Amino acid sequence: MLSITPLQDRRGWCISFQTTGEDIKEECFDFVVVATGMYGTPFVPKFPDASKFKGSMMHAEQFCDKDMAAGKKVVVVGGGKSAIDCAVAAAKVAQSSTLLFREMHWPVPRYLLDLVPFKWGTYSRFGHATLPMHHDMGVLEKFLHTVFMPLKWLWWRIVELMFRFQFRLSGDLLPQSRLEHDVFTGGQILSYEFRDMLGEGEVTALRGSIARFTEFGIELADGSWLEADVVIFGTGFKKSYSYLSPGLYEQLDRQRDGLYLYRNIFPTEMSDICFIGAEVSTFNNILTQGLQSLWLKCVLTGQVLLPPVAAMTEATAADKAWKRSWMPAKGDRAAILQLHKMKYHDQLCEDMGVNHKRKGWNLLAEVFAPYSAADYTGLFCTNGKKDTPSWVATAFAAFILAIVAVVFLATHSRKQAVVAGIAVIAIPCMVDMLKANSKNMADMLAASLKTMCP
Ligand SMILES: Cc1cc2nc3c(=O)[nH]c(=O)nc-3n(C[C@H](O)[C@H](O)[C@H](O)COP(=O)(O)OP(=O)(O)OC[C@H]3O[C@@H](n4cnc5c(N)ncnc54)[C@H](O)[C@@H]3O)c2cc1C
Repeated sequence: MLSITPLQDRRGWCISFQTTGEDIKEECFDFVVVATGMYGTPFVPKFPDASKFKGSMMHAEQFCDKDMAAGKKVVVVGGGKSAIDCAVAAAKVAQSSTLLFREMHWPVPRYLLDLVPFKWGTYSRFGHATLPMHHDMGVLEKFLHTVFMPLKWLWWRIVELMFRFQFRLSGDLLPQSRLEHDVFTGGQILSYEFRDMLGEGEVTALRGSIARFTEFGIELADGSWLEADVVIFGTGFKKSYSYLSPGLYEQLDRQRDGLYLYRNIFPTEMSDICFIGAEVSTFNNILTQGLQSLWLKCVLTGQVLLPPVAAMTEATAADKAWKRSWMPAKGDRAAILQLHKMKYHDQLCEDMGVNHKRKGWNLLAEVFAPYSAADYTGLFCTNGKKDTPSWVATAFAAFILAIVAVVFLATHSRKQAVVAGIAVIAIPCMVDMLKANSKNMADMLAASLKTMCP
């Protein structure tokens, strides 16, 4: 797609496009969905005397085979996940591999203290409640967040201590920003490979910034010098809106920290165009983009009515103000949702009129179990599987209270009433576990039978 131009005589767009070996063509459409991705245009900063450098320079995106670094002195620029991945991969074959970073980000382990899966701490509603408070909350939720603020602060300091211990972070490797804010600059789930290679001296990590390039390396801002044959830039991506005809980009009103859209999908300043996946980033992008697409289908088929433009503008302004009040300043802050994906997915589900609480009558799982794409299967499947209605959870909660009350009235024992309540709450967990295990066992049985009787 080369360009999008609004039609003059009616609503809609003229799209100019070219396929390989063909002439440029034009076609008109009523509506455009931009799905050009978040990470399409590699960003490489400009440095003085870069043209004098005799070695090779590339963006992390181009470093797709570690053998490109074989026997070379490699410098990887950046402190994020891509930069660390490149430094680790290069170190396996290079003469030397140096990570040159200005600022470290918190590494996130797959298991907290090597025991509890990370997703249990952060992808659950309980984990979500420990994050900086979302602005779109009811009075009670806001009150609870405010009351528990000191506990939330303490919890994140404890998690920081765990991560410091797990990744042996000290000195320059210790991030300066708070973990609960830093996960909103991208978030990097790491294995221990980088930590171990640093310990073994197979990778070097150096805090500093580039002053200029020389023929055979890099001069740093502090005057020191780094020899290099290959420089890899793990410096992220920028957005390109070059397909928008002149004037449209200005109309979109993109800010220095990104494009603020209603539900990260619709620009309020323009009609008949929207963005799916292109202006949103979460810890489960595929699910997020799937839900966005479902939401868009509902909007385009009239099942969901968009609010008036003024209301959408107000909601977008509230998002912007909230993000700017605490999220680290970045060029893509408007798109960043990361661990607040829980709230975003809830919003999309509520707009579509489907139950956003996806764990059914399992109230414990609703609060403490991690949410994954599997919880939303019912929304995407067309095999007739019905979603659990929202009243089921409420009815079950009422049932638990009734049981507690009955046991208390019958026994006058608070202890027995609490035990009865806990036992009833635990029933759905056991049923779910049995269901999961019986499915696994059935799958295993089917696989063995298939092997025995092919
Ligand atoms: C290093 C890295 C690691 C990642 N890891 C994860 C992860 O672990 N989990 C996760 O959920 N997500 C991850 N992501 C994000 C992941 O890339 C996205 O979730 C996913 O690719 C988004 O799909 P998409 O179709 O929206 O965009 P893309 O996959 O970027 O696809 C966009 C497409 O649009 C095309 N396009 C662009 N401009 C034009 C144009 N003008 N005309 C026609 N076509 C155009 C591009 O060629 C491309 O084919 C990662 C991204 C990166 C860069």
